[in-house]
Amino acid sequence: MNAEGNVPKGDSAHLVGRGNRDGAELFRRWYDGLGAAAAEGRGGAYVFVMGSLGELLRTFDFPIVFPEINSLQTAVRHVAHEYLNEAEDYGYSPDICGYVKADVATQLRGGALPMGRIPKPAIALYTNACNTYIKWAEIWERMYHIPTVAIDVPGSRADGLTPGRGDRDYENDRRYVAAQLREIIPVLERVSGKRFDVDRLRECMAHANTMGRGWKRVLELNQSRPSLFNALTDGTVYLGVCNGLRGAPEGARYFDDLVEEMEWKAAQGIGSLTDEQYRLVFVGVPCYPIFRRFTELFSEHGGTFVHSTYLWFASGGANLGYEYDMDADPLEALAEGLLLGVRDAMDSMFFQTRALEQMIKEFSVDGVVFHPIKSCRTVSTGLADQRRALMARTDIPSLFLESDMMDQRVVSEAQLKNRSDAFFEGLASRRQQESTR
Ligand code: SF4
Repeated sequence: MNAEGNVPKGDSAHLVGRGNRDGAELFRRWYDGLGAAAAEGRGGAYVFVMGSLGELLRTFDFPIVFPEINSLQTAVRHVAHEYLNEAEDYGYSPDICGYVKADVATQLRGGALPMGRIPKPAIALYTNACNTYIKWAEIWERMYHIPTVAIDVPGSRADGLTPGRGDRDYENDRRYVAAQLREIIPVLERVSGKRFDVDRLRECMAHANTMGRGWKRVLELNQSRPSLFNALTDGTVYLGVCNGLRGAPEGARYFDDLVEEMEWKAAQGIGSLTDEQYRLVFVGVPCYPIFRRFTELFSEHGGTFVHSTYLWFASGGANLGYEYDMDADPLEALAEGLLLGVRDAMDSMFFQTRALEQMIKEFSVDGVVFHPIKSCRTVSTGLADQRRALMARTDIPSLFLESDMMDQRVVSEAQLKNRSDAFFEGLASRRQQESTR
């Protein structure tokens, strides 16, 4: 990547791993920007991954802060326990969402994180995709007396019920979300001190379109055999850019480049593992306290994650590849995109069995790993039932591993290893039986 954020085309040797390298560089620049905003005393727009509306907030020049991403970074960098302990000493319960507690400690430390300092919130904008979002924003409201704005996005009425344009409920839902967006504009103008610029919004929406198209294509390309990237490790880097730079030109360029990298790897037959034996799907939120080791528990057996539900719901439904109609009224188009994206994200958490079945076929999957975690009930509740439902519909082997995304006190590496070793023994004997039939 050069100083303008572009990567010279046609340099094939440079392509492999470019998405990870550029993703890390973009993240560094993003956090540098947040640090500069904090130093200048500018307030940030605090948002969440399911319905961030980055393309709208960018038009008001808000530094955009994703507390979920900040918190998971403390776990990846092995300091989450310090933040969790601080929040628990302050009075938060051990069994609530670990991301909330890491953020509370971050706020108590004046925004200090291992990646740099983040600005205080000037406004918080969130959807109802997770009930924790609502209680979390109330903490900032109490701490900083800032406006917090909830957008109520109607979910699917039932599993598999996905009405489209022309359907009465769908049209009502679309109008309902659009009306809420119109109400937000004056609040954003007041807090930012900037007039709403609809042409800038169009530009940011065009960049979001490129990113969404690229994200969908990258996910589809992992149907290749061998798979091109590990959905748990590499996929989380791509996901971070998909969220953090939504609506930004450098985010759009990144996804054009990523598609180029993946298409080239597919054409050359270059996989993420040198000897791919088992293609797996991951369900839930990753185990960030031992992020690398967790993946090794699978890769040591030739297992790689070709897809995950995390890449759906934690991208706020960007996996749909939905593209805004650039000829329509921008706020109407934005409302429809938000409705469809957040609804899909919620379905990816609550009604995933049907989609998993399809994923198993399309990605030639050998096994499914369910990872319920202590501190995210939104994603983990019901996973045991979802597993049972999947087992009733397919004969795909599955593994149920319990740990956490933040709290190392409930992550037992030895126990995880015992379970994963046994899972691979089962996969190997199944393969042997199939080969002798
Ligand atoms: S409960 Fe789960 S989905 Fe909700 S904020 Fe926490 S980690 Fe995210």
